[in-house]
Amino acid sequence: MMSPHPDSTAVVDVGGTTLRVATGTDGVRPPSRVHRVRTAGLESAPHAPVDVLQKRVVDQIVHEVRELCPGSLERVGIAFAGPVTADGLVTAAPTVWGEGGLPLPLGELVEERLQVPVTVVNDLTAAAWRYSAVEREPFCLWTVSSGIGNKVFRDGGVLVHPDGHGGEMGHWVCDTSAEAPLCNCGARGHLGALSSGRGVLASARGEAARRPEAFASSGLGDLCRSGPDSIDNPALVTAVHAGDPFSVGILRNSLAHLASAVGAVFTSTGVRRHVIIGGFALAVGKPYRDLLVEELSRQGCFGVDTTEIGTMVSLGCEDDAHSLVGMARILEERR
Ligand SMILES: [Zn+2]
Repeated sequence: MMSPHPDSTAVVDVGGTTLRVATGTDGVRPPSRVHRVRTAGLESAPHAPVDVLQKRVVDQIVHEVRELCPGSLERVGIAFAGPVTADGLVTAAPTVWGEGGLPLPLGELVEERLQVPVTVVNDLTAAAWRYSAVEREPFCLWTVSSGIGNKVFRDGGVLVHPDGHGGEMGHWVCDTSAEAPLCNCGARGHLGALSSGRGVLASARGEAARRPEAFASSGLGDLCRSGPDSIDNPALVTAVHAGDPFSVGILRNSLAHLASAVGAVFTSTGVRRHVIIGGFALAVGKPYRDLLVEELSRQGCFGVDTTEIGTMVSLGCEDDAHSLVGMARILEERR
């Protein structure tokens, strides 16, 4: 069978803030055309009921795919920011249409409207498929942005329960104290509350308020003269790049939790390779990877020496096309 032209395949990445539709990726190279719109979900209509938002998002996907691929569409892949069952049922989407609501057969609904086969998977599952093209052994993909997510890829697929469980280390408890920071899920002390971009920012503001003199004389203090509340992630990234000891120390403390989570995945599964993506991690770049490796080495990985720990962690591609490229790769594999 002839391979469909990449332009007749539409891949969609549905996030809480942005919905992207793309064509022209074969599952390896980045898409040649990407169209971005604001997701017509919770963020654009915070008071609308869940069923109304679900319908709006389905309508938006159908509309945007038709706009980008008029006429020649042969198949569609949707990477979605929420747990998805093996049958393509979206069981939850707190960032897209909020808490509650009935599970949504997203694939079926879009397929009915577009009259082409539609595949739906979790967005981080799709992203992991991108790296399956280059990783030579089982690996774990971690995304570090406003929250944290992870997925283990082995034996030609992502390791999740058919009901969609798995890859939720972001909600792993690593601080059991009563005053631990709140996670966006509402619980306390989760990895996502401590090591995400949001978590690092909160600890930087807290530390700056607790140690005003150290903050004032730091590189970060120079960048954020209006006080601790004016610290933002771009300033932190700039200060870390400049080697500011105050900022590097905060990042290192925060990464200790992520290192512990990476160690937990390694010791429980034997997965040695860990690839890191996500806006915050990639914005910091090499210092992020190096600090994480240092923390992993300090904590130790049972049965692995320090030299080998240095080969365990790498950063993913700097573009933001992980889920789009990976989704196209899934469609290529499933044909
Ligand atoms: Zn949580």
